[in-house]
Amino acid sequence: MANRTLRLILGDQLNYQHSWYKNKDKDTFYLMMELRQETDYVLHHIQKITAFFAAMRSFAAHLREQGFEVLYLKLDEEQSSKSLTDNLLHYIQHCDISKLEYQQPDEYRLSEQLSSFAESVDLPIKKYSTEHFLVPHEALWDTFGEKPGIMESFYRKMRLKFKILLDEDKPLGGKWNYDEENRKALPKQFQVPAFKSYKHNVTSLVEVIEDKGVQSFGNIDRLNFHWPQNRQESLQYLKYFHQNLLTHFGRYQDAMHTDEPFLFHSRLSFALNTKMLHPLEVIEKTISYAQQNKNAISLSQVEGFVRQILGWREYMRGVYWTQMPAYAHKNFLQHKRPLPAFYWNGQTNMQCMKSTIEQSLDYAYAHHIQRLMITGNFALLANLNPDEVSDWYLGIYIDAIEWVEMPNTRGMSQFADGGIVATKPYIASANYINKMSNYCKNCQYNHRLKTGENACPFNSLYWNFLDQHKDVLGKNHRMAMIYKNWEKKTASEKTAILKQAEYYLTNIEKL
Ligand code: FAD
Ligand code: SF4
Repeated sequence: MANRTLRLILGDQLNYQHSWYKNKDKDTFYLMMELRQETDYVLHHIQKITAFFAAMRSFAAHLREQGFEVLYLKLDEEQSSKSLTDNLLHYIQHCDISKLEYQQPDEYRLSEQLSSFAESVDLPIKKYSTEHFLVPHEALWDTFGEKPGIMESFYRKMRLKFKILLDEDKPLGGKWNYDEENRKALPKQFQVPAFKSYKHNVTSLVEVIEDKGVQSFGNIDRLNFHWPQNRQESLQYLKYFHQNLLTHFGRYQDAMHTDEPFLFHSRLSFALNTKMLHPLEVIEKTISYAQQNKNAISLSQVEGFVRQILGWREYMRGVYWTQMPAYAHKNFLQHKRPLPAFYWNGQTNMQCMKSTIEQSLDYAYAHHIQRLMITGNFALLANLNPDEVSDWYLGIYIDAIEWVEMPNTRGMSQFADGGIVATKPYIASANYINKMSNYCKNCQYNHRLKTGENACPFNSLYWNFLDQHKDVLGKNHRMAMIYKNWEKKTASEKTAILKQAEYYLTNIEKL
């Protein structure tokens, strides 16, 4: 009688320290698959597809070295065009499987697919935790409730629960949050360390992806592929961050620069989201490094970094799971305009958009403020359809997995959830962009002008957005000051600004 267990490992379940790998059992084998359903559900950046498959292949090689039996389906095998569940059925039938085990997927789409499959087959099936997140999957609903509160309250509870940066039960240094100290622009001629890079040759993998006709976009340096491919490389990225970047992480977290795509950001999101690194080990190693280097690294740098991982990352996952599936269709402001072509090629005269999009095409990366206050801000001000905006973010970034991409895009950036994540829309005119970057100095538009030739589009679109949504947003007390400023403008000023915005929106492809 068959007595074999099949354990499925999804592409973002590369947890080298999972308890599955503590013991070996000769009747258990592992299945990993490069599937067209995963390359094709949205149009992806070529670096994203390559990075996931390269990391999966390294993980399979690691398991084999450890003596585990791994069945690995490559993209160029015929079966790869079949769905995840058709393949599962195939292996169950052909490999004499008596039991299926899998880890809870982080994406709703995959979770549903596997749950329906589990109901359809007559086989014992066991679901495990991925052992990655700090809030276990089954605790999400109790933790976040029907409507998650604000991130800051959740973050403080997490600090207390995990005893992070505490002085007994008080925040270390007396404050929970040092955000106010963390909003500096990059000073002139400031030296940013060269970015940590690997020089992997991924030519043959990219050729397979292309030969199989997988559609993709973006650029890739096939001989110098720079994303970490395994746990050891991910740990080296973390070490590099500690030694070179942490010292200025918080201070210049919101800064943007035409020549510096990464600044002091860690670029750990890919390693974290594929689970090659555990969030708690990243937090603990960072705090321990900072404690040993107190003279160079202030508390506000460390707190700023911890908040992103202990706070925002876990919070976004809570929003996603407690709000799905309705969340995927939210469009609170009823925005319908299609995404302009320049989102795909960076060909626009708006320097801030050009820089951010071009670097995203080159590196599959933009840091948080570029995503939120440049491309996201423009999308919101220009009333772009959140479905298209969300698909763009899901495709272009190396770290984009729906559980974290969607609440960041639909919620934080596009206010399409009506205020679940953000208490007010994240919008800004050129004034903010000019303050935080050198973009405006290199732009054909004039950041000081609201109307007239070469007036910066962000300015008129900003006021147009506010005017257009005043029935809904005007009731938000956090917006009261901004609306007062709008009301102070004369009727002719208002008319000129709205006319300018209308002109830009009509000619959006030419901006
Ligand atoms: P750092 O600035 O070095 O921050 C350290 C870590 O903190 C990150 O690696 C990440 O794991 C975590 N983090 C920081 N901010 C957030 C946040 N808002 N939500 C969740 N985790 C956070 N992050 C993703 O991982 N995947 C996405 O698909 C994604 N889409 C986004 C879309 C939009 C519109 C916006 C505004 C933000 C998005 N983010 C996403 C959050 C953030 O921009 C990225 O996590 C960050 O830029 C990754 O670069 P880094 O590793 O250098 O981050
Ligand atoms: Fe962007 Fe306007 Fe500044 Fe140009 S002037 S970089 S469009 S904010």
